[in-house]
Amino acid sequence: MSKQNTTPVPVTVVGLGQMGTALADAFLAAGHPTTVWNRTAKKADPLVARGAVRATSVAEAVAGTELVLVCVLDYPAVRELLAPAAESLRGKVLVNLTTGSPEQARAEAEWAAEHGIGYLDGGIMTTPPGIGDSASMILYSGAPELLAAHRPALAVLGDPIDLGADAGLASLYDAGLLGLMWSVFGGWLHASALVGADGVTAARFTEVSNRWLKTVSWFMSGYAEQIDAGEYPGDDATIDVQVVAIGHLLQAGEARGVDGRLPRLHLDLMRSAVEAGHGGDSYARIIDAFRK
Ligand code: NAP
Repeated sequence: MSKQNTTPVPVTVVGLGQMGTALADAFLAAGHPTTVWNRTAKKADPLVARGAVRATSVAEAVAGTELVLVCVLDYPAVRELLAPAAESLRGKVLVNLTTGSPEQARAEAEWAAEHGIGYLDGGIMTTPPGIGDSASMILYSGAPELLAAHRPALAVLGDPIDLGADAGLASLYDAGLLGLMWSVFGGWLHASALVGADGVTAARFTEVSNRWLKTVSWFMSGYAEQIDAGEYPGDDATIDVQVVAIGHLLQAGEARGVDGRLPRLHLDLMRSAVEAGHGGDSYARIIDAFRK
């Protein structure tokens, strides 16, 4: 954990579930006067014991601060909570760290603009124990000047990543990055089951697989340039070669009674590229399969 040195500014946190509580705790730890509100009022008790000020309504919670964070279950809950307090929010900066879709984020930004409220949408790329750690990323989109103005306070939560003016981008990245996480988890769990069938512990395998992920991310940086250029030279490893390689993974899994749905999905994607005449291209060509 790294603690930031910032000038204390008053902040408000609306929503004190697991994540909202961690956000409020990080502000308190950094010395920011922190006002909190939650639908179930008793969840604020531990924060109040650590120095937070309890508000009895959302309008009261936002009254004395310029920076208001909201982190509740979903966007309908955000609107339900904030609509009655819209006038109290006028002229302030609302940072919505609730998870939602890009469309919901853009609609929320429009609602805020209609009420004269500055708006930043956010995606928290960690779990509550990672809040307060500068290694954790928090994605922001919306008015970049608002993020710049409030960066010192927001940086106590995690490293603020500015995605630009389109308020929907934090949610869009968030959804894509979670998809990436689930795909990585799936591959790692499948591989752990495979090697585990021959007695290798998950911990031993993961020492090696975590190093492999660094190499894979290096491949991705090169493939990203290919995708942006629309050219997929198979000068490192072709899809044809990988169709043969994945056959060994499938065979090893079958021999050990390991479920083969995940590698079969990858084989399907590779075969569709081969059938389209791209077997000699790099793996990045498979992006075509995802573009409808
Ligand atoms: P949580 O512990 O279940 O807390 C949910 C919060 O939403 C509580 O404060 C709850 O109030 C409030 N809430 C739900 N419906 C409400 C309504 N209709 N009106 C008013 N308040 C309502 O969830 P969480 O883990 O803190 O997650 C909160 C948000 O952070 C979600 O959008 C989640 O996707 C996002 N997030 C969470 C994580 C994580 O690791 N936990 C990571 C990234 C993003 P009550 O206490 O009164 O029920």
